Amino acid sequence: MRSLLLPEFTISRSDSCDRCRACEHQCSFGVHTYDASQDMMISDNYRCAGCQRCAVFCPKGAIEIRPTPSFYRPNASWSRERIEDIKRQAETGGVILTGCGSDKPFRIYWDHILLNASQVTNPSIDPLREPMELRTFLGSKPESLSLSDMEAGTDPVLTLETPMLFSAMSYGAISYNAFQALAIAASRSGTFFNTGEGGMPAEMRSQFKEHTIVQVASGRFGIDAEYLNSGAAVEIKIGQGAKPGIGGHLPGEKVSQHVAATRMIPEGTDAISPAPHHDIYSIEDLEMLISAIKEVTNYEKPVIVKVAAVHNISAIASGIVRAGADIIAIDGMRGGTGAAPKAIRDNVGIPIELAVSSVDRRLRDEGIRERCSIIAGGGIRCSADVVKAIALGADAVYIGTAALIAMGCTLCQRCYTGRCSWGICTQDPGLMRRLNVEEAAQRLVNLLSAWSHEIKEMLGGMGINAIESLRGNRDQLRGIGLHEWELDVLGIKGAGE
Ligand code: SF4
Ligand code: SF4
Repeated sequence: MRSLLLPEFTISRSDSCDRCRACEHQCSFGVHTYDASQDMMISDNYRCAGCQRCAVFCPKGAIEIRPTPSFYRPNASWSRERIEDIKRQAETGGVILTGCGSDKPFRIYWDHILLNASQVTNPSIDPLREPMELRTFLGSKPESLSLSDMEAGTDPVLTLETPMLFSAMSYGAISYNAFQALAIAASRSGTFFNTGEGGMPAEMRSQFKEHTIVQVASGRFGIDAEYLNSGAAVEIKIGQGAKPGIGGHLPGEKVSQHVAATRMIPEGTDAISPAPHHDIYSIEDLEMLISAIKEVTNYEKPVIVKVAAVHNISAIASGIVRAGADIIAIDGMRGGTGAAPKAIRDNVGIPIELAVSSVDRRLRDEGIRERCSIIAGGGIRCSADVVKAIALGADAVYIGTAALIAMGCTLCQRCYTGRCSWGICTQDPGLMRRLNVEEAAQRLVNLLSAWSHEIKEMLGGMGINAIESLRGNRDQLRGIGLHEWELDVLGIKGAGE
């Protein structure tokens, strides 16, 4: 069937092109070819994913990729996206898959929240001259400590040198090189990376144990007692911000021999994660799984429960804390994904800003906030977002998409194809080699370092010298351009008040 879609991108090539064919070699989607009969490069706009790999690597700077200027007659009801989704589904009869977080223009609350700074009284602090503490402890903490408690020992906690962790990205969804880079960067930065649901390659376990969070998801891939003990914490993944309420599907083409061995499944078979955990249908069931994991890890590791931010998230969080979780990770609707149905990604869930604030306030109201730390993820784009998330009640944040961008991702949203030009979201050995592990790790370390410096600057400006003092400190925030109900949910005043 001939496609009736317009190409998404238009590629133009300037006269400076000397037909070196670098673009042909760089493009993993087969856009560029050399036509010997005409001695010229030609491009197939229809194949272009807009990943920009060719434009970056063209030695002559000859390539320009733009959104295609062709358009359908403007219609307020029928946007180009709606028209083309229908055409696409009429051609395939299938669900439209996509990757990355939602690109829809939902309100990004971070951009409607302003930070405070000290003036005159409570002077600001210069982080270059005075100590500034970003060390963060995640886990269940006692309301108070007596000498006998200290002798008996307290619950295990994760210690982070900076309040940022890399969020779950599984080996299989991302390449071995990307997975390794995250592990190396986490260990060098004094924080943690998360295996996601794909298991932990055996050869990496001893080296990165102290900086790994191992995940247990509904597919239960690669899970045994040794795996559960191969990290510093265990995360039970109930939901993901990009696709709340549905499972996952890693196509067989991405299940290489090594991915298969790590996931404990046959090579080349689809790895399907069911929507629910088949042993969790109530808070009591969750409590039993948390207890079982604590038992098998000798009560030495905090247990995290990760959920997607959905409508009644504060009540859900309350149940999770009462089920014995030490840390709750909340993933907002702008969180990334390797593959998700577009209809789910763009229509299900709520933004992390609203979710984290309502959970923090509910747990405080119920007097159980100290029993559980909160990690906020799904939409953290910069150091200011980190500061605002913590002031809204998070203890720390997960960063995923920002980490991928640091490694070279251009948000082309084609992760589900397995053809990532940047070697991040692929199992193709040739493409994977494009990602230099050491360089990618250094980029990640640099990103965390840069953000940590900026966080210290912002804290110092507020006259705060420890990140702990910022947690839930909504007095440092003001809303701008928000409705009354939004200010209420966030628990902040409007600017000028
Ligand atoms: S990489 Fe640039 S110079 Fe080389 S063939 Fe492609 S467009 Fe021409
Ligand atoms: S990881 Fe690769 S395929 Fe996925 S959005 Fe980024 S550049 Fe595109």
